[in-house]
Amino acid sequence: MAQYVTPRFMDSAVSREDIAAHLRIYGLIRSNLFILAKKHVYYDENDILWPTTEGRLFLRRSVYRFRLWIERVLRPKFEKCGPTHVGLDDHEIPPYDVALVLHAFMLHPRAFYSDTIRLFPELAVLNGFPLTQVADLITDDMVYIPKAEQVNFWESSTGEPFTAPLFTTPADSFTVTCPSCQHTFSALWMEASDDGMGSNLAAPCKQCGLLVTDLSYGAALFVSDLVRAKSGTGVGLAGTLLTEEGVLDEARSRSFTLEIARVIGLYDVEKLSLEDVISKLLSIPEDKLDSLSVDFLSFYGLPGGFSFDLGAGVLRQTGFASKMYHNGWTNPAFPKQCSAILEESISRYAGFLTLSMDRKAGSLGPAHDIDLVWHTHQLKPNYRTDFQKTFGWFLDHVDFAPIDTLGTWTMAWFSSPLLMQFGQQRPILMAAIAGR
Ligand SMILES: [Zn+2]
Repeated sequence: MAQYVTPRFMDSAVSREDIAAHLRIYGLIRSNLFILAKKHVYYDENDILWPTTEGRLFLRRSVYRFRLWIERVLRPKFEKCGPTHVGLDDHEIPPYDVALVLHAFMLHPRAFYSDTIRLFPELAVLNGFPLTQVADLITDDMVYIPKAEQVNFWESSTGEPFTAPLFTTPADSFTVTCPSCQHTFSALWMEASDDGMGSNLAAPCKQCGLLVTDLSYGAALFVSDLVRAKSGTGVGLAGTLLTEEGVLDEARSRSFTLEIARVIGLYDVEKLSLEDVISKLLSIPEDKLDSLSVDFLSFYGLPGGFSFDLGAGVLRQTGFASKMYHNGWTNPAFPKQCSAILEESISRYAGFLTLSMDRKAGSLGPAHDIDLVWHTHQLKPNYRTDFQKTFGWFLDHVDFAPIDTLGTWTMAWFSSPLLMQFGQQRPILMAAIAGR
């Protein structure tokens, strides 16, 4: 049997203090769920969390507010400091709904990294997720209490109320920039979607008449990505930036992009109107898409222009927070009283990483305590570089595997002889503290 060595970076990658701060944030997410559960979300028979129509609108507004934070707070800071990972000043810490969107985004390291390169270089000023800065604002009753200067700074920078409005009123509006003529206009949240509740954006441009939708935004992004790749001034289409190892390869991204453009007959995209691009994108034959081995279209047309559905990510993390709550881990006394358990989870995470390295498969599902340490590591500034320095690639995190699959993997895995090397006697540590 091969010798399995604990990854060396684990010695300093995640501390008990990091996990304690993260658990406090999960406590906040859980108490937020408690509020949302009255009207915004529900569980189906498989214990999966779904948004109601009110919930969809709430999540969409949070993603909108997250993008405003990038543009109005991070961008000026980035222009001043450059990509120096300076981190946030206390007054720049956003409202909790925005912090939760960032949290969900960072838990998809591959999407987060490639969107930082391709769309939002401002995100580089973050020095990881502001774990302690956010945790310090959360009381033992799991209420988020911002500082006055934080509220003032947010409201004067964005024009949005600090506290996310739980319920949208018919008078609530937001700003739309037409992706075709760049005209900026105001639209009502409750009218600007095909069902009046935020599902799919649908606001007619008051200048050129284009129906502004998530898809028309996506098509405009597709055009600008393609044009920049052709002229050599940008990387390439979403989904082509990173190699399988998660390493940025700009030349490969650009040539892959041009190949895609030729295959789908959109190489001369600048000669087409946005409407024509949309209808061409919608009519690409299946077999052509299949031949491309990357589902690049799935990255275009999501709320806010991100290449990942952030609202859905927030909901999945809400589900995870609920598990942490039911196991007693979000109890504010837990990290101090049970520091040995956290210590053990950290070493179990090292075991999980070693197995992942061995299998080179990112879809293996760890037990919840290990998952918590993994999530915490992903929020740290060096997650990607920790991996790349040691292994030359990094482990992406997929949190939407079916629960049954996760359960099976977990059991199979943690009873495997390999893990005996790490002293893993208990298949699922949660069992030890359940029922608190
Ligand atoms: Zn327009």
